Amino acid sequence: MDAVPSHTGIAVIGAGLMGTATARALARRGHAVALFDRHAPGHRHGSSHGSARVVRRAYADTRHVRLTGRAMDLWRAAEDESGAALLRMTGGVDHGNADVDAIAAALETEDVPYESLTPAEAESRWPGARFEGRVLFHPEAGTVDSEAAMDAFTGLARRDGCTFHPDTPVLGISAEADHAVLTLPSGTVRADRVVVAAGAWAPALLDGVVPLPRLTVTQQQVFHFPRRALAADAPTVIHHRDPLTYSLAGGRDGGPGDGRKIAEFLDPLGGPVTPDTRSGAVDPRARERVTEYVREWFPGLEPEPFNEATCLYTSTDDEEFILDRKGPVVVCSPCSGHGAKYAPLIGELTADLAEDGTAPDPAFTLNPRRG
Ligand SMILES: Cc1cc2nc3c(=O)[nH]c(=O)nc-3n(C[C@H](O)[C@H](O)[C@H](O)COP(=O)(O)OP(=O)(O)OC[C@H]3O[C@@H](n4cnc5c(N)ncnc54)[C@H](O)[C@@H]3O)c2cc1C
Repeated sequence: MDAVPSHTGIAVIGAGLMGTATARALARRGHAVALFDRHAPGHRHGSSHGSARVVRRAYADTRHVRLTGRAMDLWRAAEDESGAALLRMTGGVDHGNADVDAIAAALETEDVPYESLTPAEAESRWPGARFEGRVLFHPEAGTVDSEAAMDAFTGLARRDGCTFHPDTPVLGISAEADHAVLTLPSGTVRADRVVVAAGAWAPALLDGVVPLPRLTVTQQQVFHFPRRALAADAPTVIHHRDPLTYSLAGGRDGGPGDGRKIAEFLDPLGGPVTPDTRSGAVDPRARERVTEYVREWFPGLEPEPFNEATCLYTSTDDEEFILDRKGPVVVCSPCSGHGAKYAPLIGELTADLAEDGTAPDPAFTLNPRRG
């Protein structure tokens, strides 16, 4: 345990994917950084636990196609710098409703290579799955090991002098004109800047400190299914239907048989929760729906879920991120169920914000009229 400083240059609250990526970027730039988390590394109370998240370029919004490209380059740089294998490039498939056409148009505009297939062509290529409508395959997609990434970012940040304080909840923040004071159980810390990357806890921690657009916290659940046969690496699959359903290689959570992670993007029966009121239990109705989905769309999988887990989304109404600053307080809330793939880029953009206060994108501002 590093000693808690009484004064630091930049305090980062939250050692999830976003806080660790930010601490790493700031420490590499030579700032004095102190990274706090209320839990210990490896905890499963927030949004970043587990061994696999989808990375991909396939968005209907060209802005996000460009941002994911920058993020992908930074993931590779993080692998080189840390020596950790974080990415597993399996390629990505989008199929289903008309949203797929909008995605194809955006990939075309941004010159991102992709192929269009018929369901029959896709099924002969990936016999373990079924497809419908237009099927898009783009190679610049796969998975990132979220937990390994947090370890790598934290390791790099500490190598560059960042102090790390797990099991240390920040109880409150008071913002002055040019600095902030954090209240901890053990006393206070003065920081020239504070980055709040507190995930689902951000609304409560920033209440009365920075006005936020509406943030809705929901509990989502994921399941892993055994493969019937160890076929070649199947791509990540985004099935544009209602509810949108996604699947990817599960990584460590998939076990020695490389089981597949499958989930609905948004639980249609789930309602708003808080980190304190979330049940932490999988909804049996969701398990039934997803198992039925596997029976219909993944003949290559045993429809018997294992290793299921819950996780929290912190969503804005427009599913865009919040990356902005008010005085000495930087708000880093890039989730809405799709933030992980951007983590190293979010780290750099949040570090820029802490340094010069310019919001990286008008869509990411604190403007309460958003959404
Ligand atoms: C089921 C699920 C599947 C997902 N799949 C994908 C995917 O495939 N691809 C993708 O790109 N994205 C995906 N996402 C989204 C992505 O995982 C999140 O956007 C990302 O993990 C958010 O990270 P975070 O650091 O903001 O939050 P968190 O990881 O929750 O980190 C916040 C941290 O702040 C700490 N904290 C909170 N309050 C305090 C306090 N007062 N003092 C000190 N510490 C505090 C918490 O302990 C926590 O560690 C998924 C999310 C979920 C839930």
